[in-house]
Amino acid sequence: MVFLVVIVILSYFTFMVSFMPGFVRLPNDYRTPVIGNPQFHVPYLSTLFAIVMITMLLAHFTDPGRVAHKWPWDPAKTRVGKAWTGYPTAIALQIERKLDGTPRYCRLCGLYKPDRTHHCRQCKKCTLAMDHHCPYLRNCIGYLNYKYFFLLLFYGCIYCISFCAIMSFKFRQAVQRPLTMVDVFVIFVWFLGIAMCFVIVPFFGLHCWLVYNAYTTVEFCEKYRAKDSKKFKSGQSVASVYRTSLFQKGLYQNICYTLGPNPLFWLIPVRWGMSNNGAAIRASGKPVRQYYEKLNLPVPPNYPAFDGSQALHGAARKSNMTENEDEDVTTPLTQAAGEVQADEVDVPMLGQDQGGEGALEPATCSDEKATVDDNKV
Ligand SMILES: [Zn+2]
Ligand SMILES: [Zn+2]
Repeated sequence: MVFLVVIVILSYFTFMVSFMPGFVRLPNDYRTPVIGNPQFHVPYLSTLFAIVMITMLLAHFTDPGRVAHKWPWDPAKTRVGKAWTGYPTAIALQIERKLDGTPRYCRLCGLYKPDRTHHCRQCKKCTLAMDHHCPYLRNCIGYLNYKYFFLLLFYGCIYCISFCAIMSFKFRQAVQRPLTMVDVFVIFVWFLGIAMCFVIVPFFGLHCWLVYNAYTTVEFCEKYRAKDSKKFKSGQSVASVYRTSLFQKGLYQNICYTLGPNPLFWLIPVRWGMSNNGAAIRASGKPVRQYYEKLNLPVPPNYPAFDGSQALHGAARKSNMTENEDEDVTTPLTQAAGEVQADEVDVPMLGQDQGGEGALEPATCSDEKATVDDNKV
């Protein structure tokens, strides 16, 4: 976190030192050199700087979303090993399964995992819709802060490119005259900006691809790019089963899932109109049917028409009836699922501190190793 903040502030400081004299220059002051167009550059880059800092702080301080430690994820009250109808409603509503076809379960947390949830080794907790653990932001990127992270990359790209373009005036001036200490500093920071461009622009491109294809980074690494030897009990390889994301709903809906339902707020770092419940993200109908067929599991009777909210109403009602011997069935989820309007059904969530105390390892696919169960997917 400190590393990122230092780089951004350093670049902004260099920019201000270079351009402020021109910006505040008095009309008849011909001694102060004017480089570029300070009247435009200063407010423009200052605004971008502020947005980058705000999204960075939001991504760092926002809790990514954790799995509630109360029921319906209590394994002691759950019968594992039967067909999906044997599970309490909240678990039966989850689509994804382990390699052996049973619900996904985290042994470290002692909790069932909602769809898209993964255990983060650095945070030592399960993170809802986990994307990855970002060592630079010292926080997990998950359901509740992925928008901030995505916007940080977006504005970070614009900031980096603008910085290099604007500072090229100063860079050109610095290399054309005998070097002073300030010039050396300017040249160093300009090259640093170029290096950041080469890092952040491809990284943003990757995340655009992930949004377009409805994958999180963890899903991309351990499912989309899984080794061929990693197979479900049905014999299907994990990579072939996840060739299409279970959450693929088309470009517009995918963007709405990531940035919010209202396009006016897409580029603003707020979560207005977005659900705060990442424990029950709705999968898409067709991929769900294909998923169960490939896993050789009975397609849950309430899911084939999962595209519409009608199906979800039915699912909730049916589950309520078929599992009424389970005392666990009368969960908030069961009641809430009937009222669902948005993309999610309601499962209680535990707000916990963000845990960014992890080791400073690069944010790579190593997150997949964070999951404990070898049999899990
Ligand atoms: Zn866990
Ligand atoms: Zn984490």
